[in-house]
Amino acid sequence: MSEKTPKLRAALDGVPTYKPGKPAAEGGPAAYKLSSNENPYPPLPGVLERAVAAAGAFNRYPDMACTGLMAELSERFGVPTEHLATGTGSVGVAQQLIQSTAGPGDEVIYAWRSFEAYPIITQISGATSVQVPLDDGEVHDLDAMLAAVTERTRLIFVCNPNNPTGTVVRRAELERFLDAVPSDVLVVLDEAYREFIRDAEVPDGIDLYRDRPNVCVLRTFSKAYGLAGLRVGFAIAHEPVAAALRKTAVPFGVSQLAQEAAVASLRSEEALMERVDALVAERTRVATALAEQGWTVSESQANFVWLRLGERTVDFARACEQAGAVIRPFPGEGVRVSIGETEANDIFLKAAEAFRKEL
Ligand SMILES: *Cc1c(COP(=O)(O)O)cnc(C)c1O
Repeated sequence: MSEKTPKLRAALDGVPTYKPGKPAAEGGPAAYKLSSNENPYPPLPGVLERAVAAAGAFNRYPDMACTGLMAELSERFGVPTEHLATGTGSVGVAQQLIQSTAGPGDEVIYAWRSFEAYPIITQISGATSVQVPLDDGEVHDLDAMLAAVTERTRLIFVCNPNNPTGTVVRRAELERFLDAVPSDVLVVLDEAYREFIRDAEVPDGIDLYRDRPNVCVLRTFSKAYGLAGLRVGFAIAHEPVAAALRKTAVPFGVSQLAQEAAVASLRSEEALMERVDALVAERTRVATALAEQGWTVSESQANFVWLRLGERTVDFARACEQAGAVIRPFPGEGVRVSIGETEANDIFLKAAEAFRKEL
């Protein structure tokens, strides 16, 4: 009998595991999960009904082409359906983008710290990550990212607003960057938090993609739309990028439940915007209160706030958890705190204030 185990690709050695936000403790005192940037609200009007109706047919495969959802997205965003591709969350689409563009010997550029899925999906493809540090204001350093472009660069992620810092890049600097990137390098504008932006100087990636064949916009139903558990996201890009995404998609990856819920959510735009406005108001309240407590808070345009705490990160996260709010620590760097229900945000603010007083 052979002692050998199946040969796995060396590229998988040392792939960091994705750390999901820690769930809130069950059965404890009021325990809130502010660790995954989820929407705290229940499904939008009409969404649950439509998803439940779809559930009655889950002995059948879903519509592989997501026809209804594509038509709805096409109309909502004013883009041809040929420019749309769906996937199992926008992380799934991001992985398809890398699969479509990069492999061993190629380079993928992104800011760091940014979304933790980028290094994972890059390494799995066999390509090399080129991480460009955020600048002193926790913002993408687009000049440094441009300087990092080489003959080997295949894809660049620009996470706007950036997860976990919430910071944004604005129109003039982003356009300058896009104009300078070689036209055969794909730039992916990851706009997972687009709906939470209130800074008028932040461009809508969909305006930028229109006359730029090397720009792809990534959007998701997981955050503002509140469908994180259903796994549906999409990309907007010109051919041949969108076609490559359809080729690399996991067949039947987006369930019929997810498709129907996404369509119903798009039709509940008004209710969606009310909730997003309420979360944005809470974001302002939380950031203002933190600043009054004496913390340095970078300006967030997303549904979370970022505190750079360095060595105090883990202690701070523990204190918040003991108070009943689970947040997301990045040990040695800082914490990301999702904006949740008012009660949850209050618990967090109280814990932050108590921690501050102990310093
Ligand atoms: C949450 C998030 C996504 C989307 O996740 P999915 O649930 O896979 O759609 C994509 N990019 C960033 C930066 C995120 O924070």
